[in-house]
Amino acid sequence: NPTNCKVILANNIAKRLHGEVQDGLAALGRKPHLVGFLANKDPAAKMYADWTGKTCVENGFDFTLQQLERESLEEAIRAANRDAAVDGIIVYYPVFNPSRDRTIQYIVDQRKDVEGLSPYLINNMYQNIRFLDPPANVQKSILPCTPLAIIKILEYLQIYNTILAYGNRLHGRRITVINRSEVVGRPLAALLANDGAEVYSVDVTGVQRFSRGEGIRKQQHAVEDKDGWTLADCLAVSDVVISGVPGDKYKVPVELVRDGAVCINFSSEKNFTPQIKEKASIYVPAIGKVTIMILLRNLLRLVQNQPGTGGS
Ligand code: NAD
Repeated sequence: NPTNCKVILANNIAKRLHGEVQDGLAALGRKPHLVGFLANKDPAAKMYADWTGKTCVENGFDFTLQQLERESLEEAIRAANRDAAVDGIIVYYPVFNPSRDRTIQYIVDQRKDVEGLSPYLINNMYQNIRFLDPPANVQKSILPCTPLAIIKILEYLQIYNTILAYGNRLHGRRITVINRSEVVGRPLAALLANDGAEVYSVDVTGVQRFSRGEGIRKQQHAVEDKDGWTLADCLAVSDVVISGVPGDKYKVPVELVRDGAVCINFSSEKNFTPQIKEKASIYVPAIGKVTIMILLRNLLRLVQNQPGTGGS
């Protein structure tokens, strides 16, 4: 029973970014060096670390994995911050608990932060400040990898309308994001709203709306609690549905998704049942390969932003 849904695999989207990264690398003429810190015993983190390493090496980057006891982590990050042979740092979380892990993110030098999670970068992102060197505006700020990967996917799918001015290209789009974590869902909702979308951000506690307001007149998004709203209200009006709920129990109710919606899953489990293909116009079942290419792109950008490299 064929459907008209187009299933887009992350691989195809990653290929385009791969070309861009290779061009940047060729212009640089040296291998950027990423150091990964693994200080937990989580097999999934080890797998992700190995996958990062493999992708780095395959793409012409150097990668070193440091496996260490968690109480040695902070000093090891400080040493890497000082080490001129280290271009980028990635820490595999969780290490302690969410609040102590946040303080670890603070230690990573912003100039080496491939994940874009250090306070200055995150503040730029929420405030819609896109460059590190105003008013010259040559050096682009670093954005968190998974949210940026999802933006690159939306660009690839032409949800971003290039007829509109840069920074306004999601004007008129209504997007539901199911997940409001500090590493993915909340920054993603902010980025999409800063680009002009009306975003419904859904988590276990309820719904919030992220938007630059009528006619996208505000310079940056504002957030509003939507008391009494449910996921059903959000899905009924959304052209795009992005879901990232952890675990294999959660499924987006297909019957509530708009006919012809674009559906993207970033959870490591499948948040959409196969029936989504009866409803969606486009379905992206996984995004990991794009995220890792963004990680390399961020690393390249950090090196391009180093003094003497000439900006990017
Ligand atoms: P998290 O546990 O920090 O956050 C989960 C979010 O989902 C929270 O906002 C929570 O309120 C919300 N949520 C949980 N149950 C819900 C429900 N029933 N309805 C609505 N919202 C609900 O997790 P995280 O770090 O954001 O990661 C989420 C998922 O994304 C995981 O599966 C993770 O493996 C995956 N992930 C994928 C990539 C990638 O590149 N593919 C990157 C990072 C994370």
